[in-house]
Amino acid sequence: MSRPVRLAVPNKGRLQEPSTRLLRDAGLAFEQTERALTVPVNNVELELMFVRADDVPELVADGVAELGITGVDLLAESDSRLPVLAELGYGRCRLVAAVPNGTRADKPEDFAGYRVATSHPRATAAFFADHGVEVTIVPLRGSVEVAPKLGVSEAVVDLVSSGSTMLVNGLSPRFSLLESQAVLVAGTAIEERHMTEAERVTTMFKAVVAGRSRRYVLMNAPAAAVDAIERIIPGLEAPTVVPLAHEGMVALHSVVDTDELWRVLPDLEAAGASGILVVPIAQMVP
Ligand code: AMP
Repeated sequence: MSRPVRLAVPNKGRLQEPSTRLLRDAGLAFEQTERALTVPVNNVELELMFVRADDVPELVADGVAELGITGVDLLAESDSRLPVLAELGYGRCRLVAAVPNGTRADKPEDFAGYRVATSHPRATAAFFADHGVEVTIVPLRGSVEVAPKLGVSEAVVDLVSSGSTMLVNGLSPRFSLLESQAVLVAGTAIEERHMTEAERVTTMFKAVVAGRSRRYVLMNAPAAAVDAIERIIPGLEAPTVVPLAHEGMVALHSVVDTDELWRVLPDLEAAGASGILVVPIAQMVP
């Protein structure tokens, strides 16, 4: 019997909570229980499979699931070369090479002969091999950042978001091997009958991600101020301009990057806009 498209979703760790939020924001209705490995989605032909983020590449490569959510770093660490359908904008981090404070090693070449402790042995080995630098990889599951203190290694390669863990452990980051974030991946052998649903999932996830970094802005303004306002808002396209009952006044609508709001709102006010409303966007398909 054919089963619906299966999406592998992290059930633990840093990617778990934001992944569940993405599924809900994309409008998927499901019950998440601690016990069940797979859970049907009630309103879409889709099945969720809750697994560890680092198992996702393998499970998708093997066709146990057609789609999966995982980190770019975990993809790099796995054997599987899976196509990335969408970048999901959370779980951002970098895989960084670091040495104890005061060590004079800045470039990959300076690490020659080092023992490098890392949670990402495969990606680390590949990186140094690409640079023609010989290192000894010391694979560790956790506590990578204490390896130099324990005399286990001269350097570490570990994931960093803020960098505070390295700082606390007297380590100084020297260069990045990889930039990571959560991504939606697909199996290479995805069957024809699963394509449509896979494309729908991709469109919906991208729409949520696009909406999150933008706001819908509505305002009233004198018609004479429209040119100035259009210059302030670098919108998707020309803003919507609607005449108001009050002679010489218009309403403007536009989409603004969240990062731009800080600059845009005071400028709009100065240009004569009033009644400015900033509204979240649940989904956006540009
Ligand atoms: P977990 O080990 O299950 O918590 O998941 C770790 C995954 O979360 C990593 O493989 C990354 O894709 C992602 N991540 C995001 N920020 C960080 C961070 N600062 N440290 C470790 N993992 C991170």
